[in-house]
Amino acid sequence: MIKVAVNGYNVIGRRVADAVALQSDMQLVGVAKVKPDYKARSAVDKGYRIFAADEKGMKAFKDAGLTCAGTSKDLVSEADIVLDATPEDVGSQNKQMYEALGKKAIFQGGEEHELAGTSFVAQCNYEKALGKKYVRVVSCNTTALCRVLHAMDECFGITKANVVIARRAADPDEGGKGPIDAVVLDPVTIPSHHGPDVNTVLPNFPVISMAMKIPTTHMHLHSLIVSVKGNSVTEDKLRDKLEKTPRVMMVSSKKDGIKSTGNVMDLAREMGRSRNDIFEAVVWKDSLKVIGNEVYLFMAVHQEAIVTPENVDAIRAMMETSDRESSMNATNKTLGIAH
Ligand code: NAD
Repeated sequence: MIKVAVNGYNVIGRRVADAVALQSDMQLVGVAKVKPDYKARSAVDKGYRIFAADEKGMKAFKDAGLTCAGTSKDLVSEADIVLDATPEDVGSQNKQMYEALGKKAIFQGGEEHELAGTSFVAQCNYEKALGKKYVRVVSCNTTALCRVLHAMDECFGITKANVVIARRAADPDEGGKGPIDAVVLDPVTIPSHHGPDVNTVLPNFPVISMAMKIPTTHMHLHSLIVSVKGNSVTEDKLRDKLEKTPRVMMVSSKKDGIKSTGNVMDLAREMGRSRNDIFEAVVWKDSLKVIGNEVYLFMAVHQEAIVTPENVDAIRAMMETSDRESSMNATNKTLGIAH
């Protein structure tokens, strides 16, 4: 059993903790949290041990009537590996603690590639993480782009990828964040960080990205224009490849009536997915278009959920307990991902 600690328990941390708890080869040692709020109570109800960020935090948990098993340092000491799901730039501060305690750690996409030295998307570069001490699971947008672009590159050879990303402005529990009624260029300058971030996993072709924030909380929407080598690409071949690509879900506006990110979230509810999570990159079948050697498509990304399976696979790769296929299959099975 691999003993796993989850440090930071909100959007990403809650999901990876639940996913770890589902794995037959892993034991969730506990979760570290700052506030004794309803999320902490629900963790206790699930039987998770709660740890506070520091001694002061322990008192806050005790005052709130919640059993606190210690500080995050105590939690990390008990684990073989830490999943750090603290906010952007906090992970880099935590690295000193992991290093001092001699523990392996997985960081998230809000941290810089250099913090870990290995950026990870299971189906693209699982083997690069084998035995590593530190790995960074890339962001939600980067994960989706890597899955789809890697598949296209394998099949047709990419020369250049352009992507325009309409980003959800805030996660559903971030009531204080805007914009409420504006589209914010994020950033105005080009490229946004997403394209270069894809190159930390797939370095062999340029990815130029532009991004904006839109007033929604559920899902990003990507518009892709990808140039490929030669003239072998056709819409049928592309659809065939993406249908077989792991962790990519094809939907159709014509057949399924899925025309919006709202429909995709509703589909997750109909599927009975916990927290309405869509772990797959969602590609619209009827958006696939080939003009000459250029491929066009629309893709939606559930920002809260898509990196969950990658975090689980990164654990097995770093602990060297499984090969890529076995790990991805085990993770998919427990999370209800079809392939
Ligand atoms: P979040 O702010 O929702 O959750 C982080 C949690 O960590 C909070 O509850 C915070 O109180 C807690 N925390 C802060 N400092 C801590 C400490 N020292 N010890 C323990 N807990 C601490 O953040 P998130 O959205 O879950 O993002 C986590 C990471 O995942 C970031 O790097 C982010 O960029 C990345 N990521 C986020 C998303 C997303 O859409 N939210 C998607 C993919 C990747």
